[in-house]
Amino acid sequence: MKFIFVTGGVVSSLGKGIAVSSVGRLLKARGIKVNIAKIDPYLQIDAGTMSPYEHGEVFVTEDGGETDLDIGNYERFIDRNLTADNSITTGKIYWNVLKKERRGEYLGKTVQIIPHVTDEIKLHIRELGKGFDVTVVEIGGTVGDIESLPFLEAIRQMKKDEGKENILYIHLSLLPYLKTSGELKTKPTQHSVKELRSIGIQPDALICRTEVPITEKVKNKLSLFCDVEKNAIIEELNAESIYEVPLVFEKEGLGNLITEKLGFGNKTPDLKDWQDFTDRVLHPEKAITVSIVGKYAGMGDAYTSVVQALIHAGAENNVRVRINWIDSEKLETESYKEILDKLRNDGKLDGILVPGGFGKRGIEGKINAIRYARENNIPFLGLCLGLQCAVIEFARNVCNLKNANSTEFDEGTSYPVIDLMPEQKNVKNKGGSMRLGAYPAVLKEDTVVFSLYGKKIISERHRHRYEANPEFVPILQKNGLTISGTSPDGRLIEFIEITRHKFFVATQAHPEFKSRPNNPSPLFNGFVKKAAYRI
Ligand code: GLN
Repeated sequence: MKFIFVTGGVVSSLGKGIAVSSVGRLLKARGIKVNIAKIDPYLQIDAGTMSPYEHGEVFVTEDGGETDLDIGNYERFIDRNLTADNSITTGKIYWNVLKKERRGEYLGKTVQIIPHVTDEIKLHIRELGKGFDVTVVEIGGTVGDIESLPFLEAIRQMKKDEGKENILYIHLSLLPYLKTSGELKTKPTQHSVKELRSIGIQPDALICRTEVPITEKVKNKLSLFCDVEKNAIIEELNAESIYEVPLVFEKEGLGNLITEKLGFGNKTPDLKDWQDFTDRVLHPEKAITVSIVGKYAGMGDAYTSVVQALIHAGAENNVRVRINWIDSEKLETESYKEILDKLRNDGKLDGILVPGGFGKRGIEGKINAIRYARENNIPFLGLCLGLQCAVIEFARNVCNLKNANSTEFDEGTSYPVIDLMPEQKNVKNKGGSMRLGAYPAVLKEDTVVFSLYGKKIISERHRHRYEANPEFVPILQKNGLTISGTSPDGRLIEFIEITRHKFFVATQAHPEFKSRPNNPSPLFNGFVKKAAYRI
């Protein structure tokens, strides 16, 4: 088993997740079996209870893990499903240690950070390495944070435990560019490497984020002060698309450097598909604009997978999908029509997407946007809460069920078209208790959804508590709503559509989580195609 540990220095938000994902891609491109894990040094057991304001999107794995959004990047870059275990938090580690303590596994001992917590961390990392040639582990946060110390200590120890030929430390740092003097500054990087070395970790490679190319002089300086070989100083210039990063790293020689250092020798990478995909992302034939109507408008991180799924579908259809974020609260009054009419007249409303979400704020605006899409034949895709809002809209405005609502937003509504199912009614603890992870659905033949998936039984990931209420299915159907997919027992509504519409499809699932470069989500693909071409 071999491990690559990636730490970050100087500032946060350097794109460590993308760098780690790209390293994974370079290994995969060489036929090396790679796993990737993320360490988040916060005290939550998982990301499920965190607001997207705090940490961006909560990514859901096949097995129902509610993880950091970087797990989604890893999946997309190495094109493989990961598990809840690929996301390690301080909370998870301590939880395990405390459970062991209660079981009496440390009888007689004083339970301490070193060795008990560090041992637990190493145990978890080694478990993840089983069955893989290399496991890349991203250490969240920035070197110097108190929170990440036990993790850094654990990965330091692993060099001795596993043998130095099996461990590689990569440090990602920032070289700030001073415009006034036209210089790239190395001091912050020197300091963060110094900090790392004070913990006992000497980086084998430095990835330097920079706005301008790194000169020889700067490389020499970094090499000297950080004690890193010159060919192991990798330049990461700002890229136009995240999907370029593996190609940039490959050009910089990172792939060969890693494989040589870890004893795999020189392997020729196969990056052709990736290159083709990236070319299509960067140089599409035309552009369209899709409005995403959500509560966290403008916060791309809150909807990472949705944005990426649109990019994948765009590449497949040779179009650039521009996103116009609309804060759903802005569409809550009657003026929603004017706002959307204006966008439409300006040629900026090729489609409307309503993503997932929680809580009452902005709901009426989402419902209005859906009404507009339905009445004006604008392609519409609803995801999770997006389906729930579409059902509410249809119930109110087509079936005449006045004030129909979800009991999440109006407990006393006379028409609870969206409601908790019995198994959710007894749930007390909020953490990890939603309908989570992959569930199968059976599709109805002769529907748009069936034609997009091309098969009868499909599987998508879920993360929600509420469901379309089966009691109202007959009236919805009678008024022209097609139930295009249900759970295998027929009880839960998974997909809906309106047949006499250019494209009006919604799902209770989150298909964005399974979309990949060169393998877009069928629903996103259909949506983007309809938004882009009049076919
Ligand atoms: N709030 C809704 C529910 O819990 C929808 C959740 C979502 O969109 N992920 O069912």
